[in-house]
Amino acid sequence: MILEYFNPDYRVKHLCDISPKWLKRNGYTKVVVDIDNTLLPRDKNLVGPRVMNWLRSCRQMGITVALISNNHGSRIDAIMRQTNCGGATRAAKPMPTAFKRLVKAMGGGKVLFVGDQIMTDVLGAKLAKQKVILCDSLGGKELWITRVNRKLEKFFLRRLANNNMLPKERVL
Ligand SMILES: [Mg+2]
Repeated sequence: MILEYFNPDYRVKHLCDISPKWLKRNGYTKVVVDIDNTLLPRDKNLVGPRVMNWLRSCRQMGITVALISNNHGSRIDAIMRQTNCGGATRAAKPMPTAFKRLVKAMGGGKVLFVGDQIMTDVLGAKLAKQKVILCDSLGGKELWITRVNRKLEKFFLRRLANNNMLPKERVL
């Protein structure tokens, strides 16, 4: 059914609610995180200490974290450097191409995507047949296209909830 393409596998409030222990226990040693409003607010340039700690804990547990963004440029490059993560910029989400390319570049196997938008992060991961966690937006000011997507997102969230498909928000 088409709704499945818009349905995240899990929902959390914040990226840091996904514990490295849970990732390890569920066989996810590769995680790809959306940058804007997932890793940090879209109007900020520096990743905060809580998320930097989360990245460190993931690495200590042997989990590789990569980043994905539809944006590019000096701000995104600086975030890649600060976090010491590789990844894909200009990803053209929800096109599945970049998702598939990242899975291949990370050596295949079980990869988990994390993002704050259904119309880009969830749909793209699902089109690429990957698992995805939806988190709340960090609330940085959004582009006009994102504001349009948020309207569509509301529609799908309602449909998913009405069909009892939407996973409950949890701490993992
Ligand atoms: Mg985002």
